Amino acid sequence: MAGFQRNSTGMKPYRGRIAPTPTGLLHLGHAQTFWIAHQRARQAGGKLVYRTEDLDSQRCKPEFADAALEDLNWLGIDWDEGPDSGGDHTPYTQSQRIGRYRELLETLKALGLVYPCCCSRKDVRDAVTAPHETGDEPIYPGTCRPALGQVATFEIGEVERVNWRFRVPFAETITFEDGRLGPQSFTTGGDFGDFVFWRHDDVPSYQVAVVADDHDMGITEVVRGEDLLKCTARQLLIYRALGWEAPAFHHCPLVTDEDGKRLAKRHDSLSLKTMREDGLTPEMIRARFIE
Ligand code: GLU
Repeated sequence: MAGFQRNSTGMKPYRGRIAPTPTGLLHLGHAQTFWIAHQRARQAGGKLVYRTEDLDSQRCKPEFADAALEDLNWLGIDWDEGPDSGGDHTPYTQSQRIGRYRELLETLKALGLVYPCCCSRKDVRDAVTAPHETGDEPIYPGTCRPALGQVATFEIGEVERVNWRFRVPFAETITFEDGRLGPQSFTTGGDFGDFVFWRHDDVPSYQVAVVADDHDMGITEVVRGEDLLKCTARQLLIYRALGWEAPAFHHCPLVTDEDGKRLAKRHDSLSLKTMREDGLTPEMIRARFIE
């Protein structure tokens, strides 16, 4: 069993982040999560980083990236570093940081912790965005997983393009303490399997990009939706593989519609832009937050 403790944030100045993906207009659910992240950073007297997570070039649009900056500003969220304001860790846009993610791919290849996979599966397509956007990745049956110490089950040159999968340990329980939900526990092989680390079309996955950025940007606490709890367990394995200290985690409640379904970007009536156009004020929107 691997226990991942919260880091010693008490010793380090607080650095939080908000990380929208510009695939559509932000809705009430994003607003609530980002508001909580903002409040936690301000209450701690710390800094807040704004990062645009636009790796999915098919679905992300510059107009949504601009709209997110504008909507969050209007809601009353301000940040200290970001694509608009700069900072010590520029660029704050993931599509401009691919070289850094590639370095990590090479490091993990050298450690034998990722392996090439030639399975062409639909789940691979979904690896680039946080799973709440697309549904979680299915558990990989291990078809291309080489024996320990071996590089691949096939000659890499034989296959034009391969996905690189992260080798998760066998049946290990990953535990961590969530700032809101308390102790969390996930078992590798049961809750998730070898996940896509780098896609066959040469795009880094959400998992590698988010870990690289949170580490490089000195984030001490990650605040995000509770649908990403399992991703946190995956990411803790990447932190450990790289010998990096993980940040603390605080997962926020999800906002649901009247049918109890989690909000998605298709819920146009609950987009911040629509609500603003309907005459709601930032105070009225904030009054609807659960936490
Ligand atoms: N970019 C993700 C989103 O749009 C957030 C991922 C994260 O916070 O780790 O919700």
